[in-house]
Amino acid sequence: MAAAVLSRVFGPALSVVLVESDQIGTVGVGEATIPQIRLLTSLLGINDAEFLRATDGTIKLGIQFNDWTQPGSSYMHAFGPVGRSLGMLPFHPYWLRHRQAGGQSSLWDYSLNYQAAIADRYDGSQSLVHAFHFDAGLVASFLRQYAEQRAVQRIEGLVTHTTLHPETGFIESIHLDQERRIDADLFIDCSGFRGILIDGALETGYVDWSRYLPCDRAIAMPATAQSNPRPYTRATATKAGWQWQIPLQSRTGNGHVYCSDYLGDDEALQLLRDNVEDEAQGEPLQLKFVTGHRHSFWKRNCVALGLASGFLEPLESTSIHLVQSGLSRLLEMFPDGEFRRRDIELYNELTLFEYERIRDFLVLHYVANERTEAFWAGCRNIDLPPSLAEKIDAFGDCGRIRRVADELFTEVGWLQVMLGQGIEPRTVHPLAGLLPGPQLEQFLGSCRENIDKQVNAMPTHQQWLVQNRARSSA
Ligand SMILES: Cc1cc2nc3c(=O)[nH]c(=O)nc-3n(C[C@H](O)[C@H](O)[C@H](O)COP(=O)(O)OP(=O)(O)OC[C@H]3O[C@@H](n4cnc5c(N)ncnc54)[C@H](O)[C@@H]3O)c2cc1C
Repeated sequence: MAAAVLSRVFGPALSVVLVESDQIGTVGVGEATIPQIRLLTSLLGINDAEFLRATDGTIKLGIQFNDWTQPGSSYMHAFGPVGRSLGMLPFHPYWLRHRQAGGQSSLWDYSLNYQAAIADRYDGSQSLVHAFHFDAGLVASFLRQYAEQRAVQRIEGLVTHTTLHPETGFIESIHLDQERRIDADLFIDCSGFRGILIDGALETGYVDWSRYLPCDRAIAMPATAQSNPRPYTRATATKAGWQWQIPLQSRTGNGHVYCSDYLGDDEALQLLRDNVEDEAQGEPLQLKFVTGHRHSFWKRNCVALGLASGFLEPLESTSIHLVQSGLSRLLEMFPDGEFRRRDIELYNELTLFEYERIRDFLVLHYVANERTEAFWAGCRNIDLPPSLAEKIDAFGDCGRIRRVADELFTEVGWLQVMLGQGIEPRTVHPLAGLLPGPQLEQFLGSCRENIDKQVNAMPTHQQWLVQNRARSSA
C-alpha cells in the first residue's frame, strides 16, 4: 500500500524501494475493510469493478454481531445513515421517543444498508455505503504490480541488520542477506508484527493494551464459497472470544479470535471447526498477538505502518484503514529532506488519538454483555478508559453521542453498537417530544417505505457480482 501510494503521488520525483521476503511472507489474513478503503482505490485510480475481480472481492455493507449481549442476540453495525435528520435533531431521538411511546419498530428498519444486507441485495448505487471483502494476498500482489509499473524497485530479500548513524541514531541503511545494502533518507517499517526497524533497530518499545482487550490469539481457516455470498461480515461471540465469517467470491474466510487465559488452542480450533458453516479447506493458521501499539509510530527517520505500528483485533476491520490513515498523515507531513520534531510529534499524537478511539469502540462491544462465561464476566469488569466511560454515560443518560474531533467511527456507528449491546438512554432530547405523535409516526413510516422500495428494486449481491465480472472483463 505504501509503495503504491507513494509512487502514485510523487511519481518519478521520489525513488521508492520495496523490500519483501518470500521466505517470511505476509501475515496471510486481513480480508474485511471499512468504507474508507474506497479512498485508497480512488486515490490510486483503480476501478472498483477491476479491483473486485482481481482480488476475489465482494461487497461489505456492515458487520453483523451475533450472540454478543447473550446467545441468540443479534444486531448490525451497518455502514451509511440510519433514518434522516429532522429539524435540529439527528434521527435517533425521534426513534427513541417512538419506542418510549410503545412503538415496536427496530432502529435497523431505518437503515438502507441493513435492509439490503439481510436481504442479500446490492445494486452498486451511491446510496449504499460500502466497503470490500477481499483476499489479502491477492491485494498485496495487485498493489505490488501497481507499484512496480510506476517505477518502484522491488527487491526480494531478507533484512538481516541495519546501520544507525553514530551520532543522530537515524537509520542509514538496511542490509540484506549479509551482502546487499540499501541506503535511504526515510524508512517505512512495514515488516509486520516483527517491527524490525521501529523496534528491532530503534527500540521504540510497545504499549500493551491487553487489560482493555484481552484476546491474544487467532486461528484462521478458509472454507468453501457460499452460493450467495452475504454482503456483510459476521462476528459471532464464542465462550472466550468471537468468530469471523467473511464471504469472498470463491471461498469464505473464517477465523476465531480468543483469549488464551480462558480457552486452549485445541478447544478454540474445535469450536471454530464446529461453527464453520461451509466446508473447511486447507490447514488452519495460528496467530499470536498482543493488543497495543509502539511507543512511537514515527521515530527519527522511520515511520511504522500496519502491524509494525501496533495491533487492534479485527472486530471492526480497522487495521488496513490504519495503514491508509498513517500514509495520509505521512503525506501531509512528508519530510523535505529535514525531519522536523514538531511534525513527528504531531504525527504521533494524531495516530495515537486514532488508535485510542478505535480501541474504545472495540472495548464497547465487550464490556456491555450479559453472557455467563468467565471470560465475558471478566469483560464486564474491564477498567474503562475515561474517554469510553464518558461516552457510555452520556449515551445512557440522554442518548447523546460524544464524538470528538475526527474520530474514525461516526455517531451512527456508535449509536448502533451502544443500542446493539443493550445500552438504553434514560431520557430523550426534549425537542423530539415537540413533534406530535401522528406526525412522528408519519415521518418514521415514510423513512421505512422509502427504504423498502429501494431494497425491493435491487438485484441480489450474487447477481450483481456476476454482472460486475462481465463489466470488468468488457
Ligand atoms: C487474525 C487477524 C485478522 C485480521 N483481519 C483483518 C481484517 O479483517 N481487516 C483488516 O483491516 N485488517 C485485519 N488484520 C490486520 C491485517 O492483516 C494487516 O493490517 C495487514 O495485512 C497488513 O499487514 P502488514 O503489511 O503490516 O504485515 P505483514 O502482512 O506481516 O507483512 C510484513 C511484510 O514484511 C516482510 N518482512 C518481514 N520481515 C522481513 C525481513 N526481515 N526482511 C524482509 N522482509 C521482511 C514480509 O515478507 C511481508 O512482506 C488482521 C490481522 C490478524 C492478525
